[in-house]
Amino acid sequence: MKTSQLLIPTLREAPGEAETVSHRLMLRAGLIRKVASGIYTYLPLGLRVIRKVEQIIRDEMNRAGAQELLMPMASPAELWKETGRWDFYGKELLRFKDRHERDFCLGPTHEEIITDLFRREVKSYRQLPLNFYQIQTKFRDEIRPRFGLMRGREFLMKDAYSFDRDEAGARENYQKMYDAYHRIFTRCGLTFRAVEADTGLIGGNSSHEFMVLAETGEETVVYTDSGTFAANVERADVLPPESIESDAALPLRTVSTPNCRSIEEVTAFLKIPAHRLVKTLVYSTGKETVAVLVRGDHTVNEIKLKKALGVPEIELAGPATVEKATRAPVGFAGPVGLKGIRILADQAIPALKNVVVGGNQLDIHFVDANWGRDFSADQTLDLRNAQAGDPSPKKDGILKATKGIEVGHVFMLGTKYSQAMNATFLDAQGKECLAVMGCYGIGVGRSAAASVEQNHDERGIIWPYPIAPFHIHLIPVSQSDKTNEMTVRLYAELQAAGFDVLWDDRDDRAGVKFNDADLIGAPFQVVVGDKGLADGVVEVKVRRTGIKTRVTPAELIQHLR
Ligand code: ATP
Ligand code: MG
Ligand code: MG
Ligand code: MG
Repeated sequence: MKTSQLLIPTLREAPGEAETVSHRLMLRAGLIRKVASGIYTYLPLGLRVIRKVEQIIRDEMNRAGAQELLMPMASPAELWKETGRWDFYGKELLRFKDRHERDFCLGPTHEEIITDLFRREVKSYRQLPLNFYQIQTKFRDEIRPRFGLMRGREFLMKDAYSFDRDEAGARENYQKMYDAYHRIFTRCGLTFRAVEADTGLIGGNSSHEFMVLAETGEETVVYTDSGTFAANVERADVLPPESIESDAALPLRTVSTPNCRSIEEVTAFLKIPAHRLVKTLVYSTGKETVAVLVRGDHTVNEIKLKKALGVPEIELAGPATVEKATRAPVGFAGPVGLKGIRILADQAIPALKNVVVGGNQLDIHFVDANWGRDFSADQTLDLRNAQAGDPSPKKDGILKATKGIEVGHVFMLGTKYSQAMNATFLDAQGKECLAVMGCYGIGVGRSAAASVEQNHDERGIIWPYPIAPFHIHLIPVSQSDKTNEMTVRLYAELQAAGFDVLWDDRDDRAGVKFNDADLIGAPFQVVVGDKGLADGVVEVKVRRTGIKTRVTPAELIQHLR
């Protein structure tokens, strides 16, 4: 394509609201434009990237035996009421009424729709297993849409749903998707890690998230270097099921834990299993030191805490008091699956005399703080000092934390939806059985944005070859006939050789073209000019390394391969 045929509105500066690199660069390189909060138009270059990511996804989904279909965006309330999610899903579900006053929502995910299809159309075990997927626009009325395509309200998702005769089949499908996701994200050129994950609003038994490792990630991943353990820090039940208590078993109260000198003593006193405690905050009220044991994804709301403790001010005790971070906790207990919790700064914390411990006391509701986001992500837990005698292979070294972007998520759903919606099939004996399901999502736009987070420099984007909007940016820098003829020739030859070529045919200064080319980020730039042609060469620049090579037009294609 020629630059003159495409709308590529590059910008020198990104609009102020763009907080992350990918958001800034995707705006500046003319890939996307905002229409409303969390709602974007994909401009021609942006759409080309999206389509390439989609194509990789399609290839791998088809290869894994999934079949493509397309479900509607508008989804009738009745189906959502059958599973209870009409009420449960909350405000992320955008609801509306049609002219007949019937309730609908814009689909944020499609378990209900696909399960309805299944129960109507599939009758026999002979038709199983099945795996359906679509690449479709989703709507979630996110509370905080931000970072461009990373957290939109309207966004493209690949979602897939598998149906099996039994658990074993479902596990097989799950594994196939898990493997397909590895191939997809590898082909997209992303550095990622699959981690154990919480099942969130989708529900189900087991799940993994695919995390692109990047500073700007909203998720915290904890892992061991040996690779035996990796999980989303949110995940609160990584331990084997027999060691997990139901939430209901946890007392909702504030208690004194007199004479406790360590978190271990506190948890022992409270009979709360240590793995329940994801965070431990230690505050000082001025008179006493207060440890607040926080579990799950909850954390302390300071105002409510002050009220509950009846003190005007609270501040952090221990070394993390330093600097302004009034909310930074001193210690971190958890995550889960790691017994032998240890307060990082324990040496400096005064003995926890007369400690008041409020887990989830009524009305001390803990909201909105996360390890990594609200305090340092580079804190590590030394698992070698963990409780002796635990044979868990997870305890094999230092647990590290890093930031991640969730680009994909696979779930084993079991019969959660098939039961609620009576999605059954007849087995070989003619007995009615519930289909065992799985579901599998990939954020298409988020994957593209995550790629930019990982692949850029101060001059712009550096696209991995497989998802680049163009492979080659062809840049004539002289106005002469000679340069023009060579550009026309190379444009044709390169395209015939299978490269996607963007020819900057604008009547602009070389500097302007170079800046735009670096910003847009095609992996190769081919520069044609009178000076080089006088020596019989054109110049190839590799965007990632900046290395320039002079090659003859005849050698060019060979050189690029
Ligand atoms: P998050 O934790 O970031 O809110 P999620 O866990 O709610 O995501 P899933 O329900 O697992 O998302 O959806 C599957 C995939 O869809 C996610 O892994 C992510 O890549 C993508 N996705 C989810 N929400 C958004 C969004 N608001 N904007 C862009 N992509 C999204
Ligand atoms: Mg979400
Ligand atoms: Mg999530
Ligand atoms: Mg998810």
